[in-house]
Order: sequence, then structure tokens, then C-alpha cells
Amino acid sequence: MSAFDALARIQQGLAQLESESLLRKRSLLESAQGAHVRVDGRELVSFCSNDYLGLANDPTLAAAAAAAIGEYGVGAGASHLVTGHHRLHHEFEQSFAAFVGKPAALMFSTGYMANLGVLTALLGRHGEVFADKLNHASLNDAAQQCGAKFTRFAHADLGQLESRLKRSAARDKLICADLVFSMDGDVADVDRLLELAEAHDAWLYLDDAHGFGVLDEGRGGLTEAARKSPRVIYLATLGKAAGVFGAAVAAHADVVEWLVQKARTYIYTTAMPPALAAALLASLEQVAAGQARRDRLRGHVEALRAGLAGLPHWRLMPSATPIQPLLIGGNAEAVAVSRKLLELGLLVPAIRTPTVPRGTARLRISLSSAHTPEEVTRLVSTIQALDRA
Ligand SMILES: *Cc1c(COP(=O)(O)O)cnc(C)c1O
Repeated sequence: MSAFDALARIQQGLAQLESESLLRKRSLLESAQGAHVRVDGRELVSFCSNDYLGLANDPTLAAAAAAAIGEYGVGAGASHLVTGHHRLHHEFEQSFAAFVGKPAALMFSTGYMANLGVLTALLGRHGEVFADKLNHASLNDAAQQCGAKFTRFAHADLGQLESRLKRSAARDKLICADLVFSMDGDVADVDRLLELAEAHDAWLYLDDAHGFGVLDEGRGGLTEAARKSPRVIYLATLGKAAGVFGAAVAAHADVVEWLVQKARTYIYTTAMPPALAAALLASLEQVAAGQARRDRLRGHVEALRAGLAGLPHWRLMPSATPIQPLLIGGNAEAVAVSRKLLELGLLVPAIRTPTVPRGTARLRISLSSAHTPEEVTRLVSTIQALDRA
């Protein structure tokens, strides 16, 4: 037995997770990220990265980073407010804002930190956050930590959102939603959310981690009305389709100025290395010029959906994005299917409780423009065979 009670309790907790098939294990990636990877010594076709445009290992991005390292070194050396704010960060912020169609933008080191920084800067105990129940964990954590009342509504149920807004007496209201839901792949109704935000004088904060680079010629899921509205605050994470690291919040210039003054996860942390900002500037060019990649990606989505329609047991959830969840049901079964695919050289993660609701364990297939049509066909026929077996 262990030396003290607290350690014994976490040991029991680990044993419990193991017995419920909930113990998460990390595999070792031994190659670059991409559609083809070497994991734990095996060559695999990967359907599990968020590298939707195949940019994570793109040579133009790598060359931009390497050149910037040559010129500026590796570390930012300080926070943004204390000499860490590099010309390259500034240039990226301006290019990003122009690209997504907002007046100004601010870089954060991660999407998690951006969500926490924005919500704590905008809301306090006079606030109320209205959150879709399927929002990403980082948004939920931010909502819980900002000190505001935390009110959730059933996924995409904007009637329920409206009635919760009507009941609210909070001074500062903020509606927040994933723009593309990370485990289901469906897209939020941005214009209707904006109408509700306007009717109830609320902010609308949209987390487009999975839409930036993919939707609307890469500009992400904002609509024209949302681009123009000063109450809409837009987040793109830059470690997914953009292929690098970090996050950017785009908003009215005064909102960005407020975040510089108040967002603690912006202020009290070292700035992102400038070489990553250089890679992100190169990425933005690839994203803007990336229609061929997006067309190939859309072709893969269509082929997968056509091939997996009407399976005997498992069901593809409705999604038009590169996130294509295949509902399996129980945790153990989802893990078993994922394991069988792995034996056959296909890396597709099982997503289990508590990441998704009980009974909706799934394979989360994510597609990339870097896949070949043959690889998508191989995944489809392998899943068909497993479901019939
Ligand atoms: C990945 C993700 C985040 C977190 O972004 P990081 O940059 O990885 O911290 C936030 N929101 C959503 C919806 C995500 O999918």
C-alpha cells in the first residue's frame, strides 16, 4: 500500500478508470503529423488529426519558421506587454483580422487560454454565460472560472436559449458556442444566434477551432452580419487547419484593446515564439490560396458519407465538415472497433464518456486534404466489413 492516503485514493481512481475502459493512454508519434504517420513503431494511415489541410508539415511553413529562428532565435523571452510582442506577432494579427473580416485581432498561445482570457476579461459576477451543452471543455472551464452565472442550453436548441435569455436579469450577457462542434461536426446557426444576441443585448462569442481554414474559402464560419457586428467575437485556433500552434481572437478594435489590458492569460504569460508567428503568416497565405486543398477535402467527405450510409449497426452522424463521427454506442465496443482498425493499419480514435454523453461513444473520423481517395476508400470498405462481421 502507498505511503499516504491521498496517493492511495488516486491509485484507486486509476484502477477504477482502467476497469471501466476509461483509462486514457498516450501513443508515441515518431514521424511528422499528417495523413501518414509512424506511431509506436507502426506505419499508419491517420484519420485522427485536426490537420485538415495537411499544413502541419508543409515545407513553406517549416521554411518560414526556420528562417525566423535564424534571424530571431527560438524564445520570445518575455510577455507581450514586456518586450515580447514581436513585429511578426503584430503582422499576423493584422493579416488575420483582415482575412476573417473583423477590425482587429489578438494572438494567444492556445485556444484554451484564449477562451479563458476572453471570458474572464468580459464577465464577472454581474455576468451570465449562455452556453451550448456540446461546447468544447475549454469554453465550459472558462465560463465556470469567470465568476459569471453559467447557464447551459440543449445542443442547438435556440428556442431554449431564447427563453433562458428572457429570464435573465444579468447586466452582462454572453452567448458562446462552438461554431463547428468538435465531437459532432455540425455547424452553429450563426445568424440566428446573432439575432438573439441583438434582441437581448448580449455578446456572441464563437469558437471556430474547426471551421477556420475549412469553411467559406478558409475564412471560417462567420456570416456577413457576424463580421459586421461589434458584438460578435471570433476565435480561431491555429493548431488545427492552420497547422501551427496558438489562437487568435478577432473583434471590434476596442474589445481587442480591452483584452490587451485585462485578459490575464494574455498578460501573465510568455509570448509565443516569433518563429511560430512567421510560420502562421506563411500558413495564412496557404489557407487563403488553399481552395484546391478544400475541394479535395470536400470530395473525401462526400465519398466517406456515400460509402458509410446505411450500415447495419453503426450510424454516421449528420455532418458536412471534415469531422465525421460514426456512432457505435458503448465505450468498450467503440474501443474494440478502434483497435481492430489499428491492427489493419488505420488510426481512428474512439471518443468515449466523459468527452461525449454516455451511450454515444463513437469513432471520430477526421479527414484531411492530405489523404488520397484510395485511403478514404480503404477506410470505408474496412468499416463496412467490420460492421457486417
Ligand atoms: C481544440 C479546441 C480548443 C483549444 O484550442 P488549443 O489551441 O488546442 O488550446 C478550443 N475550442 C475548440 C472547439 C477546440 O476544438
